[in-house]
Amino acid sequence: MSYDADVIVVGGGLAGLSAAIQANREGLSTLVLERGEYSGAKNVSGGRMYVHALKELVNIEDAPFEKPITKETYVISCGTRRVTFSFSDPESRNSYSVLRAKFDPWLAKKAEEEGVIISYETLVSGAMRDNGITLRTNRGDLRAKIVIEADGVTAGVSRYLGLRNLSPDSLMLGVKEVIKPDVISDEGEAKVLVGFVDGLLGGAFSYVNKDTISLGATVKVNSLQSERVLARDLVELVREKLGIEGDILEYSAHLIPYYGYDKLPPVYAPNLLITGDAAGLLINDGFVIRGMDLAIGSGMIAGRAAKKILDQGDPTKTQVYEEMLNDSFVMKDMIIARRAFSLMNNERLFNAYPEILCSVLSRMFTVSGNRQRLLNVLIEEIKKRDLTLTETVKDLMEVL
Ligand SMILES: Cc1cc2nc3c(=O)[nH]c(=O)nc-3n(C[C@H](O)[C@H](O)[C@H](O)COP(=O)(O)OP(=O)(O)OC[C@H]3O[C@@H](n4cnc5c(N)ncnc54)[C@H](O)[C@@H]3O)c2cc1C
Repeated sequence: MSYDADVIVVGGGLAGLSAAIQANREGLSTLVLERGEYSGAKNVSGGRMYVHALKELVNIEDAPFEKPITKETYVISCGTRRVTFSFSDPESRNSYSVLRAKFDPWLAKKAEEEGVIISYETLVSGAMRDNGITLRTNRGDLRAKIVIEADGVTAGVSRYLGLRNLSPDSLMLGVKEVIKPDVISDEGEAKVLVGFVDGLLGGAFSYVNKDTISLGATVKVNSLQSERVLARDLVELVREKLGIEGDILEYSAHLIPYYGYDKLPPVYAPNLLITGDAAGLLINDGFVIRGMDLAIGSGMIAGRAAKKILDQGDPTKTQVYEEMLNDSFVMKDMIIARRAFSLMNNERLFNAYPEILCSVLSRMFTVSGNRQRLLNVLIEEIKKRDLTLTETVKDLMEVL
């Protein structure tokens, strides 16, 4: 039986490139298939990367980051009222704003310099088991002992192999714009906005780049259907609420996996290791969106696991990949974030609580000769919305 490579990686995004760099370093013959003209051509991202995993993979001194994120701002909006709090740490170099159309080609170049072969404009349109896995592509069939799936949220390879379907319950829609404002702040600020459309489950974000601002929203697909909000109106609302103006340079929309640890799809099958968005590895806990570091982390682990599996002599026995993921920050952080996933289905978080907070603060700052204790005001506002203090405390505990 002949193979075109030990490992074929489907998708040349962050997960795929990281997997390929690692597999190649392990001495495995490795080929990446990417449907785009170049890596990054098809990638959409709000653009804040936590760099701990990337630092383990490559030297980041010349990485094309936009700005270090040194200021975090949280905006809770209720109608025309809003609560804003900010945290600044000028020394922080934990995360950076990035533009994927610049970042992914940089990482692809690093991979190619180390000897990884990337076949661009190569679309995988089918997969079958055949003493390994054979992939159907526009350039002909290719067979590998191990396939690393890194084809993003729609997980084509898993679907072609009949391992799973996609359901709107496990998806969020992300919409994003890149704007060029007249003036750009020196500070790398990340903003999160909660409560921007009544009844919509999700939040909005903006990140300051070198000369531009990335902004957008991530919302549960089924809440978008039920609230009948048009996707294209979402970014406009975000722009309005965050008071950002300027020329729109780019608009894009993309699905985001939203499974949570308890409903994750399988991350391995015989001859197959699944990484990044394709494996549902994404955290959106209301404070941070993290998919990029989990994609890089899971990709690196898949590259290492491929070597272990092939050394053991049976490429169908791939469970070691899951064991290695469980031992890493990827699954440990997914476990910590598991409660946040149930919160995203909790409408109170997006409607009632922003309203309660704004009303309590409104009353605190109003002097009318009828002052009440803060706790009494809080209980009154909670009751007005047919909630109990116990329910509220329980929800709060979930967030913490
Ligand atoms: C609006 C939005 C905002 C976000 N904000 C953030 C953020 O601020 N921080 C963060 O960490 N994460 C964020 N994310 C999530 C992050 O972008 C993803 O988690 C991350 O890109 C996943 O990487 P990946 O390599 O698994 O998949 P992708 O980046 O989607 O890469 C998949 C690659 O596979 C290729 N491909 C797909 N199908 C095929 C095929 N059939 N044949 C060949 N090639 C194929 C694609 O062209 C692509 O290059 C955001 C996502 C969205 C949509």
